[in-house]
Amino acid sequence: MSLTDEIARRRTFAIISHPDAGKTTLTEKLLLFGGAIHVAGAVKSNKIKKTATSDWMEIEKQRGISVATSVMGFNYGDYKINILDTPGHQDFAEDTYRTLTAVDSVIIVVDVAKGVEQQTRKLMEVCRMRNTPVIIFVNKLDREGRDPFDILDELESELKISVRPLSWPINIGAKFKGVYNIFEHSLDLFTPDKQRVSERVEIDSVTDPRVDEAVGETDAAKLREDLELIEGVYPEFDTEAYLEGKVAPVFFGSALNTFGVKELLDCFVKIAPSPRPVNAEERAINPDEEGFSGFVFKIHANMDPNHRSCIAFVKVCSGKFERNAPYKHVRSGKTMKFAAPTAFMAQKKNIVDEAYPGDIVGIPDTGNFKIGDTLTSGETLHFKGLPSFSPEMFKYIENSDPMKAKQLDKGIQQLMDEGVAQLFVNQFNGRKIIGTVGQLQFEVIQYRLLHEYGAQCRWEPISLYKACWIESDDAEALAAFKKRKHQFMAVDKEGRDVFLADSGYVLQMAQNDFPKIRFHFSSEF
Ligand code: GDP
Repeated sequence: MSLTDEIARRRTFAIISHPDAGKTTLTEKLLLFGGAIHVAGAVKSNKIKKTATSDWMEIEKQRGISVATSVMGFNYGDYKINILDTPGHQDFAEDTYRTLTAVDSVIIVVDVAKGVEQQTRKLMEVCRMRNTPVIIFVNKLDREGRDPFDILDELESELKISVRPLSWPINIGAKFKGVYNIFEHSLDLFTPDKQRVSERVEIDSVTDPRVDEAVGETDAAKLREDLELIEGVYPEFDTEAYLEGKVAPVFFGSALNTFGVKELLDCFVKIAPSPRPVNAEERAINPDEEGFSGFVFKIHANMDPNHRSCIAFVKVCSGKFERNAPYKHVRSGKTMKFAAPTAFMAQKKNIVDEAYPGDIVGIPDTGNFKIGDTLTSGETLHFKGLPSFSPEMFKYIENSDPMKAKQLDKGIQQLMDEGVAQLFVNQFNGRKIIGTVGQLQFEVIQYRLLHEYGAQCRWEPISLYKACWIESDDAEALAAFKKRKHQFMAVDKEGRDVFLADSGYVLQMAQNDFPKIRFHFSSEF
């Protein structure tokens, strides 16, 4: 198969949701259709029992953060599908943001009873920043929930994206009878069943009398009415608008009952994008270029203290990746060869000889890689767009063992390179501040510093509201700001200026008083 054909058949995406909406269940059902697994229950939930959130080692066990579930590849018809897993726990949200930089599209799962929840809203923001195409799956139609029209309105207003239903439910909860597939003009009847594919009624259009036979006259009339309303309110589905991230097609179903899942998948493979050009600082890279290029979007540490090794996950952006071929590690300028790159097919981790754009390769690593590193056939390229977001929690990190200061520094450095958290150095007092999304990361850092680097740290409180990146076109204004706020100025690990605001009020005042300064809440601007 030619490179172009290999690219055209690839679909690399992530499923995102608020915990409990049904991401794990949906993932598993998609794998079942791909023949990647044979029984339900085979996919480990990476969800964490609420009772255990204070003990992250326990959490790691529960998550079973087996590398195997990080990327799930399988074939479906002519398509090669790569699902990138995202951690369910919100303390690891930064991981999810980075994973979203490596996908070409996203499926969002929403619980029909709960509607749009907080984490979904946040993740959608990241998708919007990158114009990532999204498809929405409204799940749990077998349970009582909200009116589907209300759900559509909520999706639009909360996720700030236009929506277009491509399937439509006939009732909901105990009276749920099935969905009308607007995309394919077919009717699928619901039978509660955890394994089988739904029963399809062959119809010509929604006016076909067979619809009345199948669901009864009253429900058929309601369905026709609903569809008329949909056609009146929502413009016709436009694949281009979807690909530009402007409109999200919506499907209804029940993942647990494998209902509406195949319809979702069939539409997904047809409309979802294959790998697209990626912007590097130097130029745009087309996937079908001959030269290989890729970037590291995730580093997965081995939690076993006796083997300090990691796996660097590389997303192939262009050309063909080959085992044992010499590649340039752009940041160090070194040439590297990889004897044991792995990929994940049908739940098995295998050594691969080649990989194509859209694929993810796992490279065993002992500390050479940083998040965002680029590998190429020789060209110097830097991929853009691995954003850091302003952390939610901050603590000073202090050395508890003066004999181990070097180890501590090295450990902090490497953990930050892995993307475990963010480091800011206060320019006023030189103290190091670690910023995280949640309490768990502080525990992870402390544990790993001790077990992997033999260094002991302790945390000291700092009261900060937000850290934001600042810039200005006016050098004088920038200097004036930094002088005025000198106690609150820090630099991130790239040396960029960061303003540490200790309250929302202070931040707002600063924004009012210094109109020439731009304040950014993510590092990508
Ligand atoms: P995740 O946290 O998003 O990965 O959610 P899970 O896939 O683990 O699902 C959370 C719970 O919802 C589990 O108990 C599932 O069995 C249940 N669930 C998932 N899909 C459905 C569905 O379609 N109907 C019903 N009734 N329950 C579902």
